[in-house]
Amino acid sequence: MNDILAETIYGLDRWGHDLLCVLGDGDVALKNPMMPEAPPISLPEIIRDLNERGIQAPLLLRVTAFLEAEIKRINEGFGDAIDRTGYKGDYRGVFPIKVNQQAQVVDRIVEAGRAYSYGLEAGSKPELVIALAHRLPKEAMIVCNGVKDAEFIRLAILSRKLGFNTVIVLESAKELETVIEVVRELGEEPLLGVRVKLTHRIGGNWAESSGDRSSFGMNTDQLIAVVDRLKEEGLLHCLKLQHSHLGSQVPDVNDVRHAVTEACRFFVELISEGAELTHLDLGGGLGVDYTGEKIASENSVNYTVEEYCTNVVETVAYAMDEAEIAHPTLITESGRAVVATSSMLIFNVLEATFYDADSAADPAEDDHHHVGDLAAIQGYLTEARLQECLNDATFYRDELRALFRRGYIDLRQMARAERIYLHLMARIKELAPRITTTPEIDAQLEKLADIYHCNFSLFQSLPDVWAIDQLHPIIPLQNLNIEPDRRVVLSDITCDSDGKINRFILADGISPSLPVHSLPEDRPYYLGVFFVGAYQETLGDLHNLFGDTNVATIALREDGHFDLLHEQEGDTIAEVMSYVEYDPKDCIDAFRRMVDEAISRKTLNVADRKALMGAYRESIEGYTYYE
Ligand SMILES: *Cc1c(COP(=O)(O)O)cnc(C)c1O
Repeated sequence: MNDILAETIYGLDRWGHDLLCVLGDGDVALKNPMMPEAPPISLPEIIRDLNERGIQAPLLLRVTAFLEAEIKRINEGFGDAIDRTGYKGDYRGVFPIKVNQQAQVVDRIVEAGRAYSYGLEAGSKPELVIALAHRLPKEAMIVCNGVKDAEFIRLAILSRKLGFNTVIVLESAKELETVIEVVRELGEEPLLGVRVKLTHRIGGNWAESSGDRSSFGMNTDQLIAVVDRLKEEGLLHCLKLQHSHLGSQVPDVNDVRHAVTEACRFFVELISEGAELTHLDLGGGLGVDYTGEKIASENSVNYTVEEYCTNVVETVAYAMDEAEIAHPTLITESGRAVVATSSMLIFNVLEATFYDADSAADPAEDDHHHVGDLAAIQGYLTEARLQECLNDATFYRDELRALFRRGYIDLRQMARAERIYLHLMARIKELAPRITTTPEIDAQLEKLADIYHCNFSLFQSLPDVWAIDQLHPIIPLQNLNIEPDRRVVLSDITCDSDGKINRFILADGISPSLPVHSLPEDRPYYLGVFFVGAYQETLGDLHNLFGDTNVATIALREDGHFDLLHEQEGDTIAEVMSYVEYDPKDCIDAFRRMVDEAISRKTLNVADRKALMGAYRESIEGYTYYE
């Protein structure tokens, strides 16, 4: 094993400890959390193998063992906490489909969750339709949240005839009126829940989804109106579940305790109002420690899954015992914590833009004297005078740029000046790690980070990085037995200056650049972005018409090999064209007409026609990414 560099540079041990390690040859490898004894499998080898089968990067790799391990962790986390505290109710978790709706993922979750009677949460009609296409265990729940019309409610009520435990969670008083109408129409009783808005606000990126101003659920006044209306209709006995969503990516476990305590107060009060509640649903919020820092911050959490489970169970037990109420069945709707770790985005680096040069140019005879001034800096560049040299170099370069803009110096002279400047920067970058730099020097050097241009679209594959500054661990997948020699920011292949990653999780904190190796000449250099299984796939968009990437689902075998369980080919250009309402056939026809006109005009010969039509067709059938 060769984990030292990966730990000291990227903090791999902190965020990836039971999933990833580094092999002796520097390859990142996948561990099997379900079979800790099995040998880890080299990720670059998996990529090579998939390549040979025709599955290229960019590639989303799903690892079934990673998903199974999280389902086990949360279900057994609650199971153990229930045993330890003597809690009298059960845990019946549900997976919120919105967090990853892909059939491959939901199917596996249902299978892996079968032993725990794990169910599904649907936040919309399409998600309910998906949930009802699965054979769930007898005890498993389907929880319906979100805005519901009569059709949604009808389907939810009738699905109970097939044995589904489908609960309609009332979001508003108005929704109750629709439910009452459908119940009258069908003559069937529903299983009802009520969504209660907690006033305790949680911290983090998703604070808006909690507290008074959150968009879903009812306040005390609305709640009372709903209870009264249910009584009036003789339906109060159908109200079995209270839903209180804690938020998302809750950073601080004490917020969990406070919010659960408040939820319990509502539960107790609703029971004293005559509701026969049996289920307490605490929604999502269980966070993922993306940075591995174990602190209460936007991309980290100060608790483990086990601690979360214990906190919830203890808090509910305490509140119910105090009110002398039977312990309810506990439900949580953790999405992120269940699927985030299960997939990773893998892409190759296409080329580099360097902000340094390995040799300087010599000033020419009649160059402007500033070119000479710039070159002279090389003579006094020492560790002690680093800041001074940086200042001087930038000053002369900027003066020369101004002269170029006004037409006083020509392109060749400017190129010599830039090259001298970049060579100075290369030497400064070499010297800087040997001295105690100042924040000023650091800030200037950060602007000199190289750019690695990578084969992916941030907008398609990592939308939260773009939209909400989400951090994901990112590391090179090979050569981790060799000290990285460059620092880079990553740029994607969209023509958008926003398509860039410049915040990275490193062992010593968040850094604006990523340590990597110089690009090898004879083989691809791969980077991996980890923990992308939650939310990213369907939030992604078609910016520049880069489509879905290839997806491979693999199972890790006990013998250190893997099985390819499923391949989903990425979008072709024809597919993304049809998403924006182009008919690829019409486009081919239109193009062909122009080709034939060119032949009539004799500006194109017939052999060229074949090549041109072939190139157009081939493009249309191909991958949207760099091949
Ligand atoms: C989004 C959502 C979830 C999932 O939240 P996570 O933070 O991903 O666990 C659960 N329940 C409801 C109602 C949601 O809207």
